[in-house]
Amino acid sequence: MSDVLDKHDVVVVGGGLGGVAAGLAAARRGLSVALVEKGPYLGGLATMGLIAIYLPICDGYGRQVVGGLAEELLHLSIKYGPGEVPKPWQDPDATVEERAKARFRVTFNPASFVLALDEVVLDAGITLYLETPAVEPIVEGRRLQGVRLACREGYRDLLAETVIDATGDAQIAYLAGAECVEGTNWLSTWFYAAGEEGLKLRRLGYGCGKWDQPRDLLGVTSQQMTSYHIESRKLIRNWYLQDGNGSYPAILPTMPQLRTIRRIAGVSAMEPESSYEDVVGRIGDWRKPAPVSEVPFSSLVTREFDNLYVIGRCMAASGDAWEIMRVIPSVVLTGEIAGTAASLSSSIEQLDLASLQKHLRDTGALLD
Ligand SMILES: Cc1cc2nc3c(=O)[nH]c(=O)nc-3n(C[C@H](O)[C@H](O)[C@H](O)COP(=O)(O)OP(=O)(O)OC[C@H]3O[C@@H](n4cnc5c(N)ncnc54)[C@H](O)[C@@H]3O)c2cc1C
Repeated sequence: MSDVLDKHDVVVVGGGLGGVAAGLAAARRGLSVALVEKGPYLGGLATMGLIAIYLPICDGYGRQVVGGLAEELLHLSIKYGPGEVPKPWQDPDATVEERAKARFRVTFNPASFVLALDEVVLDAGITLYLETPAVEPIVEGRRLQGVRLACREGYRDLLAETVIDATGDAQIAYLAGAECVEGTNWLSTWFYAAGEEGLKLRRLGYGCGKWDQPRDLLGVTSQQMTSYHIESRKLIRNWYLQDGNGSYPAILPTMPQLRTIRRIAGVSAMEPESSYEDVVGRIGDWRKPAPVSEVPFSSLVTREFDNLYVIGRCMAASGDAWEIMRVIPSVVLTGEIAGTAASLSSSIEQLDLASLQKHLRDTGALLD
């Protein structure tokens, strides 16, 4: 064991939007929470990865399907501007038909979101560790005692009753020995270019006129991560040399923009458009108007551990469900579920599911 740094009710590893939501949900329910992030900013892919579109919290037919923190953070993303909620979603008297014409989503400025995230996390009383990678879980039987951090002052143990893995690639769960599944990725990159039109978000590679790419890139080794960074920057260099037209690259992502790196197998993996008895959330399909998908509690927990939640884009969701659950509103929803669950019990086996569902209904995270 290394020196003990501190002990909290909940340690959340990963300060992406999933981790922020988990921390907020637990801290606002009176728990002592530490949020550990290896980068300099909160927000993960949404800020360091420059993914500046907060996808919809509606079903595309004009009905809002998730509230709670998913809605709060949508508004927070534009608190320091620019960006605007579509008019029908600002107007409390708008009809379902009017709302069906515009999805409840916003485009935000990552730097503004970073400033607002600092504020909301510190206001909630969360102990924040930035520039601090968690290097391994501290495992004892079916429980995690906490995580070991690579602090500036040396390795330190941060102990917890409940650990929430919000790393985006299930790194803590994987290192602890939970069964995991690897994901594959296309090559693409989002960055800001400066030119006559000012600063503009540009997207290259898959999904930007290039749909024919193989989805075969992995991100589970350091070499694969490095290669993704280098190849995506090559895309930008080629754009500048061939199509730049006076624009030049101004802000580059500081996180690899891999969509699906690794997820837990979970007690069970969520399927799209399914119903579950252990439903703890509902979410729409960001790609098209479609029936809502239910999020089962069993997709946020592992078979192996009794006090570990794995949330955000590394929860257990298979096939198309992973596509639906890896985006911003979904990861926030799963964070809120895990943070709330941690406030009810530090043992997943002893958690009262009906009580969790009631608390989530009270905050608007679980809409009927
Ligand atoms: C190219 C691309 C386009 C996308 N487009 C959209 C879009 O338009 N709209 C949308 O809503 N979503 C989009 N997404 C998806 C979405 O941005 C992310 O999946 C979502 O933000 C993930 O949130 P998260 O909190 O689960 O994980 P992440 O944002 O990955 O956060 C994980 C955090 O954990 C930290 N971390 C990891 N390991 C450790 C460790 N050991 N110790 C400490 N910290 C650690 C990381 O630094 C990171 O900050 C896109 C994704 C990609 C790649």
